[in-house]
Amino acid sequence: MKKNKIGIYCTASINNSNFTRENKMSFGFQCIINEIDLEKYTVDFCNIKDYNKFDILLYSVTSFYDILALYRDFFNLKSKPILICGGPDISNIHLLSYVADVVCLGRCEDQINDILEFKKMNNVWYKKYDPEIKNKYNLRQPTKLLQYKSKKEVNVGCNKKCLFCQYSFKFKLFNPDINYNSCTSANECFFSDISIMKDTQRITTGIDGITQEIRYKNNKYISDFNIFDSFTKYEYQNFKKLLYVKLYMIIGFPGEYYNIYDFLRFFGLFKMIDSFCSRNNILIDLFFNHFIPMPLTPYEYSSFNFTDFRTQFFSDFNNIIFTGKNITLRVSYSFPGSCYAADRLYLYRVNEPEDHIFEMIKSKYWIEKNTKKIKYYENNKLLYNIQSIPSDNIIIPNIKTPPKHTKNKTVLNNSYN
Ligand code: SF4
Repeated sequence: MKKNKIGIYCTASINNSNFTRENKMSFGFQCIINEIDLEKYTVDFCNIKDYNKFDILLYSVTSFYDILALYRDFFNLKSKPILICGGPDISNIHLLSYVADVVCLGRCEDQINDILEFKKMNNVWYKKYDPEIKNKYNLRQPTKLLQYKSKKEVNVGCNKKCLFCQYSFKFKLFNPDINYNSCTSANECFFSDISIMKDTQRITTGIDGITQEIRYKNNKYISDFNIFDSFTKYEYQNFKKLLYVKLYMIIGFPGEYYNIYDFLRFFGLFKMIDSFCSRNNILIDLFFNHFIPMPLTPYEYSSFNFTDFRTQFFSDFNNIIFTGKNITLRVSYSFPGSCYAADRLYLYRVNEPEDHIFEMIKSKYWIEKNTKKIKYYENNKLLYNIQSIPSDNIIIPNIKTPPKHTKNKTVLNNSYN
């Protein structure tokens, strides 16, 4: 029997390392590929140069950049193999429907061979059965923890329910006996759960709000004292190995404005930690992200905050905030401008094919500076889609069963306005 050829599509470099994902497969994608029936199919990698040698292309969308790269590669092609898209950053079929033939929503373990045979399933959209996306689809929940070679998923979902976190609202907690750990990693956890042992060398976690008040409003119960306590509570003195701490931060919640004193107070907390710290040689990197009111979270109807925190921040601070006795505190230059987040939100909220969006994707618009982008939004009257949306409107029309929010949006909006 002739075997159909499956190509694992890797996007090409587009003069920007962010657009490149050559051969860097996510763990989930590795697990799905591993389930493909090799009696019926061959599997190999491909890219823009050789994709036409394959019958079917598989593509994993793990981030916004994967969507941009896919459009850049495929938007204008008259013919291409069948393109099947899945992955953790898909929550809207409309956005991919211009290029994809099949879009899978949510977890797809134990499904890939049925998808390859075009079997109808309630979490899979097939262009050939539903070209105008008239049906509604489920966001499939995990049915098991994934395992591939020596790696094993630790858990799925998170019971903390920080209000901005799509991941925790998208998936029910699977394997609820344990706290949040990211995918296969035991080193990425909730800040208050971290324990810095003598020989800990690397921690990745999030604080996600510049003030305690913002964190608490977002269901993120990390007090300033928790932060102080986590770094100072243990007794090992003068441990020489470097402890690297990667801390994710979110800025630009609805109603939040740039306030230099909030930053000074936050950095002052680390200066205090430095003077009380019993372990020397700690490098802390803060990775700021501009807030996006993500679909499926209690924020999904919120309007976008265009305040350009990045520009204001780097006009007041250098990226190295201080080098103290024990601690060096830095802010990563990957701090995005507000328009980067606006672009993402715009695409997440697409609910019908709109040509200008795809023109935007193809154009150099995506690498333009913030000020130019704001003009682009204004000139093209695009702001309506990222400003507040009436509450009876459904943000993602093609998903039938989004998990329920734990807090209603009225309470949330009042807390910020
Ligand atoms: S931000 Fe982290 S701790 Fe909060 S809900 Fe999401 S995964 Fe859980």
